[in-house]
Amino acid sequence: MSIRVRFAPSPTGFLHIGGARTALFNWLYARHTGGKFILRIEDTDAARNTQQAVDVILNGLRWMGLHWDEGPLTSDATGPCKGDRGPYYQSQRRERYEQRVEALLSHGAAYEHEGAIKFRMQREPVLIHDLVVGEVRRELTDREQQDPDFVIVRSDGQPVFHLVNVVDDLEMGITHVIRGEDHLSNTAKHICLFKAFGVHPPKYAHIPLILNHDGSKMSKRDTGASLTSYTEEGYVPEAVLNYLCLLGWSPKNNREIMSLQEIVELFDLPNVLRHNARFDMEKLKWMNYEYTRQMSADRFHELAVHTFARAGFDTNRFPLDYVKKAIDTCRDKIKLFSDLPGYAGFYFSDEVQCDPEAAAKDFVAENKPRVTRLREVFAGLGDFNAAELERALKETAATLGVKAGVLVHPVRLACTGKTAGPSLYHLLEVLGREKVLDRLDKALQRM
Ligand code: GLU
Repeated sequence: MSIRVRFAPSPTGFLHIGGARTALFNWLYARHTGGKFILRIEDTDAARNTQQAVDVILNGLRWMGLHWDEGPLTSDATGPCKGDRGPYYQSQRRERYEQRVEALLSHGAAYEHEGAIKFRMQREPVLIHDLVVGEVRRELTDREQQDPDFVIVRSDGQPVFHLVNVVDDLEMGITHVIRGEDHLSNTAKHICLFKAFGVHPPKYAHIPLILNHDGSKMSKRDTGASLTSYTEEGYVPEAVLNYLCLLGWSPKNNREIMSLQEIVELFDLPNVLRHNARFDMEKLKWMNYEYTRQMSADRFHELAVHTFARAGFDTNRFPLDYVKKAIDTCRDKIKLFSDLPGYAGFYFSDEVQCDPEAAAKDFVAENKPRVTRLREVFAGLGDFNAAELERALKETAATLGVKAGVLVHPVRLACTGKTAGPSLYHLLEVLGREKVLDRLDKALQRM
């Protein structure tokens, strides 16, 4: 049997990390088994259905690298699926739901009631063989005892979640429904609908919820609840992915940092944990830092360029070699990529904005002859490299009878606008003689 799984989010304008993890587990299971991962946008609720809300989901999945495998051909090429196949949209599948409802009506599995259509629900308890939760025997609740039937099409003609969800899982040949445990309460209804359509239901795997660190339920407003916050704060996608894997799943040997390839190999539904997972921001931050430290120079470069671009710095205006060297001076220095523009934006801006407090301290008349002297030395240097620059600065300081720091502070401020940043001599080398002299001249005018 070839495995087919799906992620079926409703576009609410928000991608909860619980949802992101559901998508991830489905994707991992598909990749582990050589099956297919399908994305289905459950957008029958027209009021909430905006392209913007859908984009939050698509962008989140793209950021994590969770590509979907199939879907109808789309004119708007929402990729990243091969051949620009879209996700499926329930809003485009109305006719299918109508046909299915007709079928249920025709053999008496559904009936009209006050303008709505209701499904004739089984009266006996429903057994669910869940791959994660185990055996669940779902009895009718007291309220359901009175009337277990439920609405599948509202009186305004809107098909209801239970119906469209099951019709699509059926028509898309979904073999495994992997979703949050909050949907376990719907599963008895879904199983009965499958039976009414004359087919076996898929296998179910309800994954435990993600709680806050203190064990409380995670709401939309809790820190870290939205996947978008990680993209905006400059987290490394691989780190977030690795961390999310461990929320509710664990390889046998308690390993933590693992490559995606390893995770794909090891991931399986039987080792999804049954207890709720607690979200630990500190651990995620640690993991993010480890990934940042260990990633290849190329990957660091790629993420850095992306971060600068988002912050409005166009690195394309500069020679590639310059950009590479500039970014190299930031390795091991930043915790989050979003720190980069503040840390090293001076490489890519024409005007240096100086910290006013530091300027009041360093750009003083007393420093003018010193910096003027250093400028002359820099102008005459044979090789404008870090070692030479360091030697020259220290020698000049000694000649002037001051500590090196007396020159270091104004030079750093003049060239970067800040009091801290990458190694001074390396950043001067990267900026190059022309920019350095020009920035020193501008600072001298202020002394
Ligand atoms: N649209 C539902 C949700 O976002 C999907 C439930 C399911 O995966 O079956 O919760």
